[in-house]
Amino acid sequence: MPLAYRPQTSAAEPLTSIQRVMLRDLLDAMWREHVVDITNLAVRFHENETPEVAAELAAVRRRLVDVESAMDRMDARTYGHCDACERLIAFEHLEARPSRRYCLQCQPPTR
Ligand SMILES: [Zn+2]
Repeated sequence: MPLAYRPQTSAAEPLTSIQRVMLRDLLDAMWREHVVDITNLAVRFHENETPEVAAELAAVRRRLVDVESAMDRMDARTYGHCDACERLIAFEHLEARPSRRYCLQCQPPTR
């Protein structure tokens, strides 16, 4: 069976406060990185309006929205729960991708 469809053997533990702080720091760092990228891409787009730069800009904007939505979920205390099945998402999966909204079982194919 592909990894994504393997049933979870044990329930994920709720995040500890230290893990929450770590993930918050990661999200903050990603947010700053995306804002810098968007600024640089916007300058490039202004100089050279190509579809490639436009597509790149749109992709970074989507990633920024994902990060901001994860920050909102953190404030709302819903962060770390799968959007589809509401099961807890394991810390190591959040650490690998802090903006993750689904558990491995519910994760739709990446866009
Ligand atoms: Zn799920």
